[in-house]
Amino acid sequence: MRTSIRHRVAARMMAAIGVVSLMAACSGNGAGNGNGGATGGGYPDKNITFVVPFSAGGPTDTVTRMIAEPMAAKLGTKIVVQNVEGAGGTVGAGEVARAQPDGYTVLMHHIGMSTAPALYKDLGYKPLEDFGTVGLVTEVPMTVVARKDFAPATLQDLVAHVKANAGKVTLANAGIGAASHLCGLLFQSAAGVKLQEVPYEGTGPALTDLVGGQVDFMCDQTTNTSGQISAGEVKAYAVTTPERVKSLPDVPTTAEAGLPKLQVSVWHGLYVPAGTPQEVVQKLSEALKAALADRAVVDQMAKLGTTPVPAEDATPQAHRDKLQEQLGTWAKVIADAGVKAS
Ligand code: ASP
Repeated sequence: MRTSIRHRVAARMMAAIGVVSLMAACSGNGAGNGNGGATGGGYPDKNITFVVPFSAGGPTDTVTRMIAEPMAAKLGTKIVVQNVEGAGGTVGAGEVARAQPDGYTVLMHHIGMSTAPALYKDLGYKPLEDFGTVGLVTEVPMTVVARKDFAPATLQDLVAHVKANAGKVTLANAGIGAASHLCGLLFQSAAGVKLQEVPYEGTGPALTDLVGGQVDFMCDQTTNTSGQISAGEVKAYAVTTPERVKSLPDVPTTAEAGLPKLQVSVWHGLYVPAGTPQEVVQKLSEALKAALADRAVVDQMAKLGTTPVPAEDATPQAHRDKLQEQLGTWAKVIADAGVKAS
């Protein structure tokens, strides 16, 4: 099973980046951040693949593409972004966990790395054991958005509406383990309802269907919804952070709108397979820091309602600490909500 998945990953990667061989592993065995020993001189000498575990055009994809170019410039190579969708981000994450630990396969993931272990009985990977952390990237507020002709006008109206129409209302998400799933879970638990969920392979296509009126509402990062909110293509009820988002000044916070318990901030980080040499991870982390300081990246993120993390958080240790803390936090919330994927 493991072998066939690895072959499938390799085949996909070769198809995506046009290379004819994947280099043998140069794994070390240091522990600490889940990364390996010190070797890795000469890295990188070929293209690097960044795996996004959700659809192209969605928020995780957007953030990845934003930083890929300045990171590639700093590293002196090309970065190819590859979307490996499915099961709320767990398919792509699993493939990277089993890839060669040589720094040429890197995963961009978000808060889902810390929620999936509590949701899936057999995830097939362990976040702290099977990955090395490279650094945090950004924390993105979510928005609660609906198709523009959906009747409820405010978040309170939405709660009343879903309570009265629970069997009819549809809630889109990017699969169990996705940030949109988590936010939807918190919404349903705060509102005291169970809704019909419509899973997609990413919220890029979910937002397209929301704009088209095929689904009623969903939660999604501002990095995906800002444009559609500003253009009036969707109705925005609230942002899920304690403060309003500068680029969306008219959208109230969930606390202001009457659901203070609905709080989620979607943190993103870069991962490598465990055992990747320290020197390689360090190079990736330095390139990440450079990308996050890039004026174009800062400006683009600001337009989409977010900011890069401070430089001290774009490090393997800060990222690892965050992952550890979040695994504990969400395990408890999910256990209290009594949800399981399989
Ligand atoms: N926003 C998505 C989520 O719900 C993922 C994506 O498409 O980027 O996790």
